[in-house]
Amino acid sequence: MTDTDVTSESPPPEVPVAGSGAAIRAAAARIADPEQRVLERIEEMRKRKPRMRDDAITMSHGAGGKSSHTLITALFADVLSNPVLDQLGDQAVLPIPGVDNLGLAVTTDSFVVSPLFFPGGDIGELAINGTVNDLAVGGATPVGIAAAFILEEGLDVELLRKVVVSLRAAADRAGVSVVTGDTKVVPRGKADKLFITTTGVGIVELPQRSAMARVRAGDVVLVSGALGDHGATVMLARGDVDLEAESLRSDTMPLHGLTKALFDEDIDVHFMRDATRGGVATVLNEIAQGAGVAISMNEDSLPIHDVVRGVAEILGIEALYIANEGKLVAIVAEGDAERALQVMRSRPEGAEAAIIGTVLPEPEGMVFIETVFGGTRVVDMLQGDPLPRIC
Ligand code: MG
Repeated sequence: MTDTDVTSESPPPEVPVAGSGAAIRAAAARIADPEQRVLERIEEMRKRKPRMRDDAITMSHGAGGKSSHTLITALFADVLSNPVLDQLGDQAVLPIPGVDNLGLAVTTDSFVVSPLFFPGGDIGELAINGTVNDLAVGGATPVGIAAAFILEEGLDVELLRKVVVSLRAAADRAGVSVVTGDTKVVPRGKADKLFITTTGVGIVELPQRSAMARVRAGDVVLVSGALGDHGATVMLARGDVDLEAESLRSDTMPLHGLTKALFDEDIDVHFMRDATRGGVATVLNEIAQGAGVAISMNEDSLPIHDVVRGVAEILGIEALYIANEGKLVAIVAEGDAERALQVMRSRPEGAEAAIIGTVLPEPEGMVFIETVFGGTRVVDMLQGDPLPRIC
């Protein structure tokens, strides 16, 4: 038997069935509206499962944007898949045997920021705040932190002590202790001075009040303060941007007090996420895709300091993509939005909080910005890595 024989036995190709009147009208409308056609095409592309196309890891896989997302979903979550991990939350929530109304929240984060010290903070403080915040945005109260240190041979001991003292102070501020840890040393040149990994454990009430699945059309989008201060500060401290900005400081801070205040005031918070790498633009894309909604932002309402706008312009990126280390995005029920804003603004962490947009039913997975000139444009996830080693 030849190949030809086999082929001849396969069923004939399916004949396309003519569409209904409505489908034809919709298709005609699409052809008439090229913008609609483009939007539909983007929506289609987004719904596809990402595939890892790179042969080697690039810096952009660590930037928190599109490439990181692909690496995580197409490699890590694909191989390690299980019902908890597959939710890709800021914190995993594990059951506590015999307890129905509480869960164990776990999160982990590595810190490779360069330089180790920058205006407003350092790697030790970041390592605590980053982990505390990943618990806080899920409504979890931190109960203990593990810290692992990778040290480069030759690292100055006084410098290391300074970092650990700062880490301790940050833990005290967040009301949590470092209860276990690990230390490894690698030869000179095999790491850059010091990397830290922190793991946080917390307790969360079930069902979780802050959950991506609770986001719905009509909700209001808030941010807890000015955007991009941390990333812009580190870029300046590293000398990557030739600009003097004495006033600019990292915004690294714990947000557990702010999130607790929102819950204590009974604000109907549907979801919160801290806007670290990839900035608010990336977080909003994650929410739009994860919850199957669209998000529209008002450019006019975005709280961004002038100096950060300046840094963004020099770097040729939008401030919306610059990392924060003490800012969260909150998606709140429409009726509670104004009250949520007041609660945030009544606290130092939220003094510059703002309502920046709304959740729309469609097009699914898309984030838009209404520009000050009256136009609308799509805001995608961060591409590439314009801001390496920012946290
Ligand atoms: Mg986070």
